[in-house]
Amino acid sequence: MPSPAERPSNGLWIVGIGPGRNEYMTGRAADVISRSEYVIGNDSYLDSIRPLLEGKQVIRSSMGKEIERAKKAIELAQSHTVSIVSGGDAGVYGMAGIVLEVLEHSKEKIPVEIVPGVTAANAAASLIGSPLSGDFAVISLSDLLTPLEVIERRLDAVFSVGIPVVIYNPRSHGRPHNFALAIEHARKFYPPTVPVAVVKNALREGQADPLIVTLGEIEHIMEDVDMHTTVIIGGSESRIWRMGNDVKGIITPRGYHRKYVY
Ligand code: SAH
Repeated sequence: MPSPAERPSNGLWIVGIGPGRNEYMTGRAADVISRSEYVIGNDSYLDSIRPLLEGKQVIRSSMGKEIERAKKAIELAQSHTVSIVSGGDAGVYGMAGIVLEVLEHSKEKIPVEIVPGVTAANAAASLIGSPLSGDFAVISLSDLLTPLEVIERRLDAVFSVGIPVVIYNPRSHGRPHNFALAIEHARKFYPPTVPVAVVKNALREGQADPLIVTLGEIEHIMEDVDMHTTVIIGGSESRIWRMGNDVKGIITPRGYHRKYVY
């Protein structure tokens, strides 16, 4: 796939801008945005990169308008350099998939590059120790594009193998009950001692102290879970990480203890 960087007169960059704070954006993301004539995204993402937008044509879009946004980006990229931005990584519940589908359907040929970003899973995990040290799964509870029964089957599949699960889109006004439902599924497979972390606005404005509880105590923090949070449900080997008496986060041992003495 040719990179627009090599042919800077036109092309499309699909850019993950990371969790929010500018220092967590990759150098490549900042570079391609600064080279773009047009930057397209929704308000909250564009606000978080405001210093990079000076002198650019900025097209603000809103949630639910992803297909229009993708079409506009493709149309403009015929003759301009265009960045379409997503939070975290654009390929993880972001714009990359839909832009490529629309592009494929349009039969247009334009240079495209996907610029990866730090995901909410990575950002949240970094604030609570090392909960995702080995295999883990990521599941979104949004049933806008995936039927709820499919989400429930996937939750059972991953909980049944005992790996940590990162929950995206855990709760919103439109789906207040999906998180409680996911917890019911976890409880079918896990004991009440399994640790759970709720991380709100990781590495961006509004970051809150992560909440660390166990599956047995989760009712206490239900109200803290919203669409700005990522929830990490530990696996069968995960445990609370303490420093002295302080609860710091979650460790999921990768298995060194089975092989080495330390
Ligand atoms: N493309 C993004 C995910 C978008 S889906 C990525 O790679 O991270 C939106 C969901 O991601 C939110 O409902 C929330 O669950 C999670 N999320 C995104 N940014 C976050 C952040 N900074 N802190 C905590 N959760 C975040």
